[in-house]
Amino acid sequence: MVKQFVISSGHGDKVAGAIGILNEHEEAKKVVNRVYDILTKGYNGVGFKYHETTATTQNQNLSNIVSFHNRKTRDLDVSIHFNSATPTATGTECLYYDALTLSTKMSAAMASALGIVDRGAKKRKELYFLRNTNKPAILLEVCFVTSEKDAAAYRNNFEDLCQAIAKAIAEHLGYAKNQVEGVSNPKDSIYYNKKFDRLVLLTDAGVYADVEFEKEINRYKKDTKIDIEAIVYTKNGTPRFLVKEKDKCAFITANREYVKAYSVDK
Ligand SMILES: [Zn+2]
Repeated sequence: MVKQFVISSGHGDKVAGAIGILNEHEEAKKVVNRVYDILTKGYNGVGFKYHETTATTQNQNLSNIVSFHNRKTRDLDVSIHFNSATPTATGTECLYYDALTLSTKMSAAMASALGIVDRGAKKRKELYFLRNTNKPAILLEVCFVTSEKDAAAYRNNFEDLCQAIAKAIAEHLGYAKNQVEGVSNPKDSIYYNKKFDRLVLLTDAGVYADVEFEKEINRYKKDTKIDIEAIVYTKNGTPRFLVKEKDKCAFITANREYVKAYSVDK
């Protein structure tokens, strides 16, 4: 039988995690959702994901998360967190109870995907999640929510990060990557998933005040060139480009049907 996993986001809807430049719980949910999709669709893996929504105290929140994990048949428990410290603290970590090898690989894989320092594997036997889940467990600290540099690295490399986390889990559980091209990540063929400096519009397109595209604030004609500040993602993981519209942040599609990377030698 194929090995199974459980992956959950740290903290909960009513029990906030760290809040800095990034909101830990909100970003952890995005990482969990994307990694879960890659593992179940791109690797034919089998698992469960969980986001805690009801607890109003930290103890209840931790207990709900661990109960979900322990109720499932699985071989690995994964918890996604983000670190918090001073503005200069940077890097990835992976905390563990006894899964040292996997944690070492995981921290290095995240660091390489994000292009930030690898702070490595750390044994933390006292942590509630690691201590109370009764299968091998790891707790990822993706990067620091308090660091501008880490936040930018995370936003710009979200897809690479999730692919790297999924790959490390897949290798540990013996999953093979789905060989059919494009199936592992159907969104890749539709959307750009990496930032570049400048785009050119292939058709008339709107610029929006919000990432979910609820409020259009301007429209540009085909062939307009626009500078890109960063790549960001909607709640469902759809990539968008963050651009500047009259010195304010705005969002435009990253759909390859509508925009193209602009290069000067063309
Ligand atoms: Zn946390």
